[in-house]
Amino acid sequence: MQKQIIIVLGAGESGVGSAILAQKQGYDVFVSDGGAINDEYKKTLKNYSINFETGEHKLLYEYTPVMVIKSPGIPDKADAVKFFAKKNIPVISEIEFAGKFTSAKMICITGSNGKTTTTLLTYHLLKTAGYNVGLAGNVGMSLARQVAENPCEYYVLELSSFQLDGMFDFKADIAILLNITPDHLDRYEYKFENYVASKFRVIQNQTENDAFIFCKDDTAISSWMKDHKMDATLYPISLKENASATANEQELKFDIAEKKENISTSVLTIQGKHNLYNSMAAGAAALLVGLTKSQIEEGFTTFKNAEHRLEKVATIAGVVYINDSKATNVDSVWYALDCMTQPVIWIVGGVDKGNDYSVLESFVNKKVKGIITLGKDNSILQQLYADKGKLFYSTNNISDAVLKAKEWGVSGDAVLLSPACASFDLFKNYIDRGNQFKHLVNQLVTNSN
Ligand code: ADP
Repeated sequence: MQKQIIIVLGAGESGVGSAILAQKQGYDVFVSDGGAINDEYKKTLKNYSINFETGEHKLLYEYTPVMVIKSPGIPDKADAVKFFAKKNIPVISEIEFAGKFTSAKMICITGSNGKTTTTLLTYHLLKTAGYNVGLAGNVGMSLARQVAENPCEYYVLELSSFQLDGMFDFKADIAILLNITPDHLDRYEYKFENYVASKFRVIQNQTENDAFIFCKDDTAISSWMKDHKMDATLYPISLKENASATANEQELKFDIAEKKENISTSVLTIQGKHNLYNSMAAGAAALLVGLTKSQIEEGFTTFKNAEHRLEKVATIAGVVYINDSKATNVDSVWYALDCMTQPVIWIVGGVDKGNDYSVLESFVNKKVKGIITLGKDNSILQQLYADKGKLFYSTNNISDAVLKAKEWGVSGDAVLLSPACASFDLFKNYIDRGNQFKHLVNQLVTNSN
């Protein structure tokens, strides 16, 4: 009998993982990437004898697949997607596909901000407590590849709205929705409600035996929940009262599935109000999985967050330099400025996605002593901040930005790279921006010794 064919669109981590799993499940696989495939992935595909095309979508049209697995970066309006969708061939995401071949418990994390931090923290809690757990989604190795090569009992998945859009039958055992603020609206016909609906796909197919952990303080989440029926068992988290997980400056308080635990915030290695939310969400999931209080405390104490998120780089002459390059929207900057206790020299700018900076106004007035705009086009920030009576400097060169910050900084200040913008005007990505910042700061350290 002829084998059924699966087409995989995109040959990044998720596409290559899908191709390997599809082959293992007995399908013929063809991978098509409109751009260049990196050498490592090419080698992997060749090792598995998986056919592929690179640089154009051409040969794929000759196949009649039973399904198409689409990488999250490829939009629904891409020609190849439209072509197969029109023929009623299912176009699904890697996570949807991988979910069909595992009975592992799935902890799925989404939100506009805090996904990576919460995913890594939840994974770390389970891992240090000795669980057989994998990390996947937007971080780490693809779920599909792990299911194919190294299956685990639990997976902690970071899910973007793009991934969620390609998910239909998949079910999260524990779903976490951290917050929803406008982002990526270009992919959602500029309608916020479409983006909200996409985020809520994280709870689709859940029953009362499944858990939904969500932030009760988030207005977009609360208002959606008023109008929609949820089947899952609900575990709200809040920095105020009346939720199953709450926090104040001193304690995280959990009342989850009859487990009441108070954990001191002094054990947390990540700072800021936003990280209280992230820690409550991760802690609540860990309690539901079955971790004890002391296991969770152990995990919180030993957690090291990923780079570029409020990452302390160095203290030079009493001035602390913080790399928050991952803060690519205004909401993230809000939380960064919120947790600053010292006068701030703020490095901001890049590709502005239609930002509304007004929500930052009181922080800027109270906490920011100097503003350095770093971008190809700084005009919006210039108009906003140049005449505010604060130190102000505009540049398109990160080295100049760091030197200016050093010139302004006095002992007790913080230099905060928290751009509120995408990085593509001057850098490859936010990682490149953060790394260049760190490199320049470390050079200052060397020069000051
Ligand atoms: P994501 O994976 O959703 O982009 P990250 O954990 O990588 O989230 O954090 C990205 C940025 O968002 C960081 O700069 C951080 O300061 C900010 N952030 C993290 N958690 C939250 C949260 N719960 N609410 C708002 N902002 C947050």
